Amino acid sequence: MVAQVIDGKAFAAKVRAQVADQVAKLKEENGITPGLAVVLVGEDPASQVYVRSKGKMTVEVGMNSYEHKLDVDTSEEDLLALVEKLNNDPAVHGILVQLPLPKHLNEDLVINSIDPAKDVDGFHISNVGLLGTGQKSMVPCTPLGCLMMLRDHHGSLSGMDAVVIGRSNIVGKPMAQLLLGDSCTVTIAHSRTKDLPDVVRRADIVVAAVGRPEMVPGDWIKEGATVIDVGINRIERDGKNKLVGDVDYASAAARAGAITPVPGGVGPMTIACLLANTLTACCRANKLPEPE
Ligand code: NDP
Repeated sequence: MVAQVIDGKAFAAKVRAQVADQVAKLKEENGITPGLAVVLVGEDPASQVYVRSKGKMTVEVGMNSYEHKLDVDTSEEDLLALVEKLNNDPAVHGILVQLPLPKHLNEDLVINSIDPAKDVDGFHISNVGLLGTGQKSMVPCTPLGCLMMLRDHHGSLSGMDAVVIGRSNIVGKPMAQLLLGDSCTVTIAHSRTKDLPDVVRRADIVVAAVGRPEMVPGDWIKEGATVIDVGINRIERDGKNKLVGDVDYASAAARAGAITPVPGGVGPMTIACLLANTLTACCRANKLPEPE
């Protein structure tokens, strides 16, 4: 079997175009422009790249982008004061504090200081609880993007066996909640899981979110399974810098029914979902019907 490639880049472009249409309608009919504030503390190179591309795409869909770049030694007090200011700013509908934060800042404290209604990353404890209890919430962007691709490919996911490798708060755990919400039978695997290959071989859906280059080989994949590779790993191969996922793409693609590539799979969907969440937050704040 040769896997169908799930084109996250094309799907994300479609999602962004839908968001842009809805933003144009909001402006025209209601005189409202959604606004996304991104806070970056310090100069982590990967974070700078993400923040730049988030800002660019926010503007491209017609939203206002507010970037706040703070020094690496910014105090917790000053950061919390900025978040409070953004919480109270009616032009800001979404707030994202780029992680990781420098070590002297308490990430949980900062994230939980964001107004949950503006928490477009979905990391606030209230949103985590709402998602876990199946209530309306802000859903973390990366797992939401994965779910959208899975639904698009399969239609219903009901009754499918899903294995999520990784149990982080930003990917693994919310991914498992979303799959459970769509009636999958979900296994969460992690570094202490016994016989991981065997666990993965049972899965109709494999979501790999580990951060270890190409650790899932093709012979772990059940024939015809759908593979969603969240991993983004920079490696050097043949003297060149390369981005690879957590799945060994070539061998997995030879067995899977469908697979996301790296790059061009989950990554672009993450930003598209951030924009979709900002639009949703803006509609909720203005008591307008939410986009589908
Ligand atoms: P974390 O480091 O927070 O979590 C990694 C998880 O993988 C942990 O739960 C860990 O288990 C588990 N793990 C580590 N080693 C193994 C192993 N040998 N076998 C099984 N499980 C293992 O990472 P994130 O969740 O933040 O990110 C995961 C990957 O996804 C990274 O490559 C990251 O760059 C990428 N990413 C991509 C995004 C995108 O937009 N495409 C967005 C966010 C992340 P334990 O808990 O036991 O330590």
